[in-house]
Amino acid sequence: MREVANKHIVVVGAARSGLAVASLLKRKGADVFVTDHGAIAHSVKKKLTTLDIDFEENGHTTKAEGGAFLAISPGVPTEAPLVQKYLNSGKEVYSEIEIASWFNKSPIVAVTGSNGKTTVTNWLDHTWKKASRDHITGGNIGYAFSDKVDQTSENSEALLEVSSFQLDHIDSFHPHISVLLNITADHLDRYNHDFSSYAKSKFRIIENQTGNDWFIYNYDDPTITEYVYSLKKKEEGPRLLPFSTDEDLSEANGAFIRNQNIILKINKQEEVLMPTRDVNLSGKHNLSNGLATALAARASEIKSDAIRESLRTFEGVEHRLELVRTVNGVKYINDSKATNINAVWYALDSFDVPMTIILGGRDKGNDYSELVNQIQEKVHTIIAIGEAQPMIEEQLKSIVPNFKTAKDMNNAVRSAKEVAKRGEVVLLSPACSSFDMYDNYEHRGNEFKKAVNRL
Ligand code: ADP
Repeated sequence: MREVANKHIVVVGAARSGLAVASLLKRKGADVFVTDHGAIAHSVKKKLTTLDIDFEENGHTTKAEGGAFLAISPGVPTEAPLVQKYLNSGKEVYSEIEIASWFNKSPIVAVTGSNGKTTVTNWLDHTWKKASRDHITGGNIGYAFSDKVDQTSENSEALLEVSSFQLDHIDSFHPHISVLLNITADHLDRYNHDFSSYAKSKFRIIENQTGNDWFIYNYDDPTITEYVYSLKKKEEGPRLLPFSTDEDLSEANGAFIRNQNIILKINKQEEVLMPTRDVNLSGKHNLSNGLATALAARASEIKSDAIRESLRTFEGVEHRLELVRTVNGVKYINDSKATNINAVWYALDSFDVPMTIILGGRDKGNDYSELVNQIQEKVHTIIAIGEAQPMIEEQLKSIVPNFKTAKDMNNAVRSAKEVAKRGEVVLLSPACSSFDMYDNYEHRGNEFKKAVNRL
């Protein structure tokens, strides 16, 4: 544990995790100051006042520069002038999970990747519940690690969703089990549009792991396997547990599919876990997510019965390929959380029927051409919404029989109803962020659900 008592510590960014780490540091006896370059939400200000934590908003004064180190929120880029001031003066900048981990007593299971983190972290939570194992679940989802760390103990595990922004500023963060789901282009705006520096930040999840730890990774992801190959040449690293939906990995440890069965192999013991058709969630990506979950559970010595039960019963997470309702034989699917092309690719891959897709929102420089094959094969109608309309029109209009635009979600859903036939799917999987029209992706998904429920 690192000593923070009586130290003056500055927290930059006063959203959920900034508040959580400020409150943790205060509980541990630090003298905490919170600073934000924008306005701080009224509810956060109230909480800070109750906790007797001093703060400033709408800009940083010299008060923000005097911390022993800087606790950085995931929303604050490393390039921000205040962060650069700390780094240039030789002071440390730590993320919220790094700081929380100083007070942690549990073995950590940490999940990262471009897509699927929330799904897998919730799936782990579900598995740990099925196994009646003590645990806390947090990180990027629900509660920040800082909010839960006081409940950790040696006899329970900490299941954490970890974003690359959190990993950018770790130092001693040390998961016993790390899970890397995939690495695809997202958030490149925060990494100077440099894919390799984004990829590197994801691999930091293993930097403090040793031979007693486990690294679970996606064998089907070429960026990951290339890196692991270079890792194998080094000496002391975590034990490797790859998972694959495409290849038989019986030569190594890991999880894979053989004759439509899920096989787990760990410490040279091979076990046929269950038929793939018994996994409750559909889509190849969810089979991958299930394999990752099963391996993490097995590495934590959870019994096969509990793992099977979990894979059979996990219902997924809201706004991720969520079935809203079937109307006149048409399934309406809410995948509002699909904010990048890769997630949309897997959404399209999950269905084998003709589809109408609602795409659009705030474009992040997407290359929609990656979807062309899937769209030509399955989609008869694209309905474009939001700021991205012209980009989608330019790149995809010519490849579909019907191209429409809609001014809002209600309009989009009604237009979809006109063209979708019995047995088909209407999919909201926008490939864009939601901030042009909505507060966040949950708001967008809820508007979709409301519109569907009005049909
Ligand atoms: P994250 O927390 O990493 O953003 P989520 O679990 O919230 O991931 O899922 C985000 C989107 O990615 C959803 O549209 C979901 O259907 C899709 N998705 C989930 N798992 C995967 C995966 N393994 N590969 C690709 N897409 C995935």
